[in-house]
Amino acid sequence: MRVVLATANPGKQREFAALLEPRGFELVLQATLGIAPIAETGRTFEDNAVLKARHAAAAGFPALADDSGLEVDALGGRPGVYAARFAGPAASDEENNNELLRSLEEVPDGRRTARYRCVLALLRGAADAHPLIAQGSWEGRIARQRAGTGGFGYDSCFIPAGFECTAAELSPARKNALSHRGAALRELVALLPSWR
Ligand code: IMP
Repeated sequence: MRVVLATANPGKQREFAALLEPRGFELVLQATLGIAPIAETGRTFEDNAVLKARHAAAAGFPALADDSGLEVDALGGRPGVYAARFAGPAASDEENNNELLRSLEEVPDGRRTARYRCVLALLRGAADAHPLIAQGSWEGRIARQRAGTGGFGYDSCFIPAGFECTAAELSPARKNALSHRGAALRELVALLPSWR
């Protein structure tokens, strides 16, 4: 199945390729088709995933988008859908991570729980009224300091439940086997036969 991948995030691109190419997907990056990223104006992960996939489906074939983020309990669920912009509109991963650690400076270890969430939307075309939606989450807690160089985004601050290292210290294969994105993609693949 040939799909346009509606993301400009290299970290997501690597994970999608590792998870979907062995399952027979041919992924085409929206940038290679001259499609610029669209502003994420939705209030929920699902709204934004559908928005991004519909925009990319203008290319004329099926499109897949991911909207994901980090929910921190001690911050009332923030940054949530605004994870990429936590420290400001054009913030780098470094700035977002520093902002996160600063926001949690006074929060004791037992109250640093958090989860990643990922919602995927797959559309047959730009006018598709019945997108395939799949989701996954990954429980964990926020470290006191960054560790590891793998992954992307908040991985160097996120300690998955059951681990004493951060997601950035896991191998890519291990992260994909455990992560919110891996879970959502496995659900998507399982739902595909009834959607086509
Ligand atoms: P968006 O889906 O474009 O809104 O961006 C999601 C943001 O959530 C990313 O830029 C990261 O900051 C964060 N995020 C989502 N998934 C992951 C992950 O697997 N690891 C680390 N950070 C993530």
